[in-house]
Amino acid sequence: MSLKPAIFLDRDDTLIRDDGYIYEIEKFAWITGAAAALKRFHQAGLHVFIVTNQGGIGRGIFTEADMHAFNNHLIDAASKVGGAITDIAFCPHHPLAPDPAMAAHCRCRKPEPGLLFDLAEKWAIDLAASVMIGDRDSDVEAGKRAGMNAYLFTGDDLDQLAKEVLSQHFAAPTRSQ
Ligand SMILES: [Mg+2]
Repeated sequence: MSLKPAIFLDRDDTLIRDDGYIYEIEKFAWITGAAAALKRFHQAGLHVFIVTNQGGIGRGIFTEADMHAFNNHLIDAASKVGGAITDIAFCPHHPLAPDPAMAAHCRCRKPEPGLLFDLAEKWAIDLAASVMIGDRDSDVEAGKRAGMNAYLFTGDDLDQLAKEVLSQHFAAPTRSQ
């Protein structure tokens, strides 16, 4: 089986607005250009993965079930705008978690690249041909540590960055149009 390239996206403040620890569906709101970017990546035939630190679970601010409900809403919202999210990987740990097991250093909290490696193995992804995008240095570092191309999203318009990424890394074969 040949490995496929993919787009890896941070969730909070990259795809959706974050007000601190977001988990309530009523607060769901796209970042500017995020819906269009998801459609663009899907039309380019790329898998889209979300890799997200959700330390609010470890801190007891919300439950894993809350997060899954929110993520399912995000997956539905993506499909409604012509996008597709193949899979979501999350890290529930946080250095300030009251449970020492949840506060211990883990392999999944970005900038650790564990979530990226897990998805790559699960879905047969070519990391060197893939791109990580996120709004924090820790996202970029995780991508680089996984051997990926990595972009810092500065928050203006995710679709503009999506266009740039596609033209730089996934230049389409000649199309008739
Ligand atoms: Mg973020």
